Parts: sequence; C-alpha cells; structure tokens
Amino acid sequence: MKLGVLRQEVLEANLELVRRGLVLYTFGNASGIARDEGLVVIKPSGVPYEKMKPEDLVITDLDGKIIEGILRPSSDLPTHLILYRAFAGIGGVAHTHSRHATAWAQAQKEIPCLGTTHADYFHGPVQLTKPLTPKEIRSGYEVNTGHAIVRRFKNQQPLHSPGILVADHGPFCWGTTPADAAHNAVILEEIAAMALETIAANPKASSVSKHLHEKHFSRKHGSTAYYGQK
Ligand SMILES: [Zn+2]
Repeated sequence: MKLGVLRQEVLEANLELVRRGLVLYTFGNASGIARDEGLVVIKPSGVPYEKMKPEDLVITDLDGKIIEGILRPSSDLPTHLILYRAFAGIGGVAHTHSRHATAWAQAQKEIPCLGTTHADYFHGPVQLTKPLTPKEIRSGYEVNTGHAIVRRFKNQQPLHSPGILVADHGPFCWGTTPADAAHNAVILEEIAAMALETIAANPKASSVSKHLHEKHFSRKHGSTAYYGQK
C-alpha cells in the first residue's frame, strides 16, 4: 500500500466523522494501517479538522515510534495500536464521542439489538467494556483502554461486531479500511439514537428474535451473503 494513498484515506475518514456530525472541535480520531509495512497513519493531536492536510497526519510503527510527521499523534494512538495488533483483519479505527453512542457508554449499558438496522451491522448487542480500574487509569490509560476492548472480544470475530462502547467514555469502531471504520462509527451512532427513541416509545421494547437477527446479519456477512451487488 502506498502511504500517500493511506494518508488521503485517513484524512477522508476523519473528515467523514465531521460531515456526519459525530465530532465537535478536535474530538475524535481515525487511523488506518498499511499491514505489509506495519505502519499506522493517524490524525494529529489537537489540529482543527478544517485545517488538516494529508501531510499533517502522523505515521508511526506498531510500537508508536514516529516514522513521518512533525506533529504529535492523537493521544489515543496507543489504543489504536492495541486494536491493530489484536485484530488482524482490521484496516482502520475510528473513535468519537458521538452523542447517542456516548450516552449509552456513560450509562454503562450495552445497546440491545432492537431492530434490523442494528442486526445488519452488529452480531448481538453493541458491547460495553468493563470500567477501567484506578490503577489502569493512573498509568498506561490509553493502552489499558485498548486492552479492555480486546478482553471483551475474546473468542469473537471483531468484524462481526465492528465497534464497542468504552464504559464512561465513548465508542471505538473499526473496519476493513479507514472509510469502513468511519462508516461503522456513523452507523453505530444511528443505532444508538434509534435504540434510545425505541425505548422512549416503549420502555418494554425487546430485542429482535434470534431468527430475524441471524437472517439480517447473514444477508450481509459470511459465505451465504446476498445483500448488494456481486
Ligand atoms: Zn475519547
């Protein structure tokens, strides 16, 4: 993968989060990985999106060592790196504090699958990490955030549920590319908003049946998928 192309893709994924109203000011960050080179491209820390240029993005190795770039990388870089190392199939990560998904994270509630929009993208509820311990917060906070996510995904296929709510914090999403990760962040925000309104309309609303969930999920994923064009 040409790193110049990946820079452009990562910039575009970051801008998509802005366009879709998922981030305010300098909140949020998206990254992408060139697997063959073992290099990660990530948003710089604290630079306004409207002024961001491809050359402002920071390239690091999987240990976080800066390979290219004069700006500091996003402070969440260590979380992204843990995810890239643990989830071999992912090519992009997007983190936001989008309002509805963050509301569920702050409420420390996973998002139940209340309909087919959710079932199309997430296999099962949108999961929630355990809150970090005081020790995990005190040192290696961002690394420990990554570990909390990875622990929650033990024995699961990360691309079958391409995001998670970090307790008291907000969503981290991923995908096969930076654009796919940003797309999943947008979808998660929509699912989170729909679920809140569903529960407001009917506090007793229940999760969709397993049959409906499996039907919708398998239309888009796996060997028998038939949604969209070949
Ligand atoms: Zn955050």
